[in-house]
Amino acid sequence: TYVIAQPCVDVKDKACVDECPVDCIYEGPRNLYINPSECVDCGACEPVCPVEAIFYEDDLPDDWAWYKDASVEFFNEV
Ligand code: SF4
Repeated sequence: TYVIAQPCVDVKDKACVDECPVDCIYEGPRNLYINPSECVDCGACEPVCPVEAIFYEDDLPDDWAWYKDASVEFFNEV
């Protein structure tokens, strides 16, 4: 899955939402989340993010690795 990390916080540009072919990017209170169980790993969202907040899960910077778990938790709660 792809993961949206810290640069999205309080930005929520949503350019990625328009690119995603499976509509799996959802709005949270402070940032957007990619649903890991719906993402098809196409990568279309990554280059359009104006703040470079989107990473393939294995390419997340260490400091932001926890955003992957945060995504899982976000969708477990809704
Ligand atoms: Fe959507 Fe593709 Fe981005 Fe996954 S990688 S969130 S399917 S645009």
